[in-house]
Amino acid sequence: HTDPSTANQVTGMWILTQALKKVGIDTMYGLVGIPVTEFAYIAQGEGIRFLGFRHEQQAGMAAATHGFLTKTPGVLLTVSSLGFLNGLTATTNATVNCYPMIQISGSSERPPIDLMQGTYEGLDQLNIAKPLVKAAYRINRPEDIMTGVVRVYRAAVSGRPGGVYLDITTPCLGAVMDRAAAEATLYTPVDTCPPMIPSQTSVARAMQLLASAKKPVILLGKGAAYAQIDDKIKKFVESTGIPFYQMSMAKGLLPDNHPLSANSMRSAFMEQSDVVVLVGARLNWLLSRGHGKWNPAGKFIQLDIDPEEIDINRQIAAPVVGDLESSIDAMLAALPSYKLSMDPEWVPYIQSQSKLKNEKFMQRFVAQTVPMTHWSALSAVRKVMAQNPDVILVNEGANTLDDTRDAIDMMLPRHRIDCATWAIMGMGMGSAVGAAVATSKSVVAIEGDSAFGFSGMDFSTACRFKLPVTVVIFNNGGIYNGIGQNLGKDGDPAPTTLNVNARYDKLGDAFGAQTYYVTTPDELEKALTEAIASKKTCLIDVQLAADSGKESGHIGYLNPATLFPVN
Ligand code: ADP
Ligand code: MG
Repeated sequence: HTDPSTANQVTGMWILTQALKKVGIDTMYGLVGIPVTEFAYIAQGEGIRFLGFRHEQQAGMAAATHGFLTKTPGVLLTVSSLGFLNGLTATTNATVNCYPMIQISGSSERPPIDLMQGTYEGLDQLNIAKPLVKAAYRINRPEDIMTGVVRVYRAAVSGRPGGVYLDITTPCLGAVMDRAAAEATLYTPVDTCPPMIPSQTSVARAMQLLASAKKPVILLGKGAAYAQIDDKIKKFVESTGIPFYQMSMAKGLLPDNHPLSANSMRSAFMEQSDVVVLVGARLNWLLSRGHGKWNPAGKFIQLDIDPEEIDINRQIAAPVVGDLESSIDAMLAALPSYKLSMDPEWVPYIQSQSKLKNEKFMQRFVAQTVPMTHWSALSAVRKVMAQNPDVILVNEGANTLDDTRDAIDMMLPRHRIDCATWAIMGMGMGSAVGAAVATSKSVVAIEGDSAFGFSGMDFSTACRFKLPVTVVIFNNGGIYNGIGQNLGKDGDPAPTTLNVNARYDKLGDAFGAQTYYVTTPDELEKALTEAIASKKTCLIDVQLAADSGKESGHIGYLNPATLFPVN
């Protein structure tokens, strides 16, 4: 009954497809069912690539990663109620991380929802989404579809990017319109992500402070990576000669082994820097909110697109509010008019200390322990990744996250995707698929065994779409490790205990992946090298010792109390 009866009629689903194409959407991630199945078929038929997942949260993680890597919104399609809620976790995560993403969800007809009478998968989705996302809208009429799509697109991608929700009711998806009238509603919006030029006053204030700095440092965040102005960032760092530190997902913006890298000098610059330049990085919990070790007399310059980000934890002496390209352009243009006064000992100090710290750090990779520890396993992984710098690294876990971040140097921008600002678990398979689809590059996902559990079934999605994704599972048999103590009923596992003997490679076999089970660093090096070269979907079960890894990795201090002595 929702089919157009003549060739001169079209449905809301067709209009939605055309509207998405008008704003440039060519890929959609999702999981279909009533009421969005026909829409997915139509979109696929009209040339929008559709990647069907096994769980909406992972489809959403894929869309978010797609958004981060391409600077255009990734799109997630979900069904009503539970599908919507499952996907909303990823849209919320995208909002926290400033990734542009659009979740489109089918929803029930309004009358029973508004009278709270209950209906098939009934839920007042728009109101639930609102507090968790950057913006949320509902389309009730087919003639409003184009407007709705343009609004979510603009909201997702302009200003500070974020996750945006678009609710479209079942009657609207099925509504019939005359083709000519429908076509007349379609248009391509102009200037969807306009430059936001910083004021000259703010640039001058920042440059003056920078010029006065004796021991400055530049902090590059994932906003800087997102902006895709890699050459300009490089020029800013190199022409000022100021040491830089890269937040996790900014790693590779400049190569981690760059001579000005202060990546291993975090405590030193926190304590000693008199001027800190935040470039697309928030002074949030990951940076002790500007307190703790930070020099209380230090001053901050902050380049950010969001005026409300300024002064949220500590005074920012010189905010430069604008899009990063415009702000860096303005700072670079002003640079010749200022004379920097950096302490001539500062960079040599950072460099000599970095050298010592890095040499000490390298000792962790010497012992080829079997059964493997995180470090002996990473000794193999770091060799292979150094041979394959253009592979995108997806990474989550506790110890697996912290140790891999420290162990693997990134050489290229936007090649590291992790659980980011919210520090969540359960993004691995979705982000791996999104990264592979958005870039056509090979992906290696290094996953803790617990982390993999949140999204494991969507390894099958990478297999079905034949993506060059290799999943490496560090199996130490538990959350943090596999030696948790059971304080309760005999025979039950501890809250943190999984299964150190689980053979995740056999799970890969079920979906036709190329799989490996490795027990030594040599085997791991060989398997990972072969897996990446194959360009196939691969899974490597890395057998670790159950006692490798400590509670909560590097952030054990966040636990309210320590139950067991930290090892
Ligand atoms: P990290 O975790 O790497 O420090 P955050 O997500 O905390 O990164 O911070 C990124 C910051 O970058 C956010 O405050 C966001 O507003 C900002 N940002 C994102 N895109 C741009 C852009 N194009 N121009 C300027 N700032 C941006
Ligand atoms: Mg940050």
